[in-house]
Amino acid sequence: MNKITSEQIKNLFTLPLNELIFKAREIHKKNFEDGDVQLASLISIKTGSCPEDCKYCPQSAHYNVNLKKENLIDVSEVKEAAKLAKKNGANRFCMGAAWKKLRDGKDIDAVIEMIKEVKSLDLEACVTLGSITKDQAERLKDAGLDAYNHNIDTSPDYYKKIITTRTFDERLETIQNARQAGISVCSGGIIGMGESWNDRAEMLRVLANLEPQPESVPINALVPVEGTPLQNQKIVEPEEMIIMIATARIIMPKSRIRLSAGRKYLSSETQMLCLLSGANSIFYGDSLLTTKNNDMQRDKELIKQFKQINKSNSKELINKYLIIFTDKIASTVNY
Ligand code: SF4
Repeated sequence: MNKITSEQIKNLFTLPLNELIFKAREIHKKNFEDGDVQLASLISIKTGSCPEDCKYCPQSAHYNVNLKKENLIDVSEVKEAAKLAKKNGANRFCMGAAWKKLRDGKDIDAVIEMIKEVKSLDLEACVTLGSITKDQAERLKDAGLDAYNHNIDTSPDYYKKIITTRTFDERLETIQNARQAGISVCSGGIIGMGESWNDRAEMLRVLANLEPQPESVPINALVPVEGTPLQNQKIVEPEEMIIMIATARIIMPKSRIRLSAGRKYLSSETQMLCLLSGANSIFYGDSLLTTKNNDMQRDKELIKQFKQINKSNSKELINKYLIIFTDKIASTVNY
């Protein structure tokens, strides 16, 4: 596979917005069933007191954030939450623990039990547990784990400004360990942390050049949380999210592109444009790890409406949504 360059990505960023969306839609339709949106529910299985210093994260022990900390929860609690997620229509169940790394012994044993419970409900199981070794990845795979989430967060350069307690290469190593054990990789990043468009292009370049490309790519918008160093960051503009989603779709045609954290800031029109631009997975449920998510009923309505519009395949309808963004993205993208 030819390597994707930053230049190619930046050329996509600067296309007129409607051109970019139509290009992404075409690629999306060749690779996925029309209107198929994965609903992933997320639960925090261990909250707060994390030794890492990720500047965006309320779970880091380095910052003074109003957060209810919780030790590893019981397997029965996970089972109940998974049952509810399934009843509400979710097809993937993700479990997140605020750990630097997964520890052998009772922690991994408990996580294995949780994975088995989720799998027994016929849900896809995904976990995010910090760094994992090859052996641990194999044990998780044997328990039935489908996917491991480990985001690269941002560009290799900007990463050093966001996290100092874990290197970018260590992240890639964990991704590699999951991959080698035969677990699907879920890896994406966050925009709105003060990075440039160059950094955004670099982040997408690294993801797109993983071999094979990640099966899932969450695109998050920063949710600035009081007490974290990024508490005063500006909320990302809707078109920034659309540009990232559409570009990710074009360069990673077979990956599930997930509209993730920060969705609560997006209007229904913007979310619709993200879906029309190739996002085909959302985090679904009342809350994410530590921040509020969108209302489930409204999500169901949004997806129903998306399926209708998508079926009609009408450029006019899509253009109707585009009217809300009158400017070309050249005014948004500043290198
Ligand atoms: S993002 Fe994950 S690793 Fe970083 S501080 Fe938060 S919980 Fe810890």
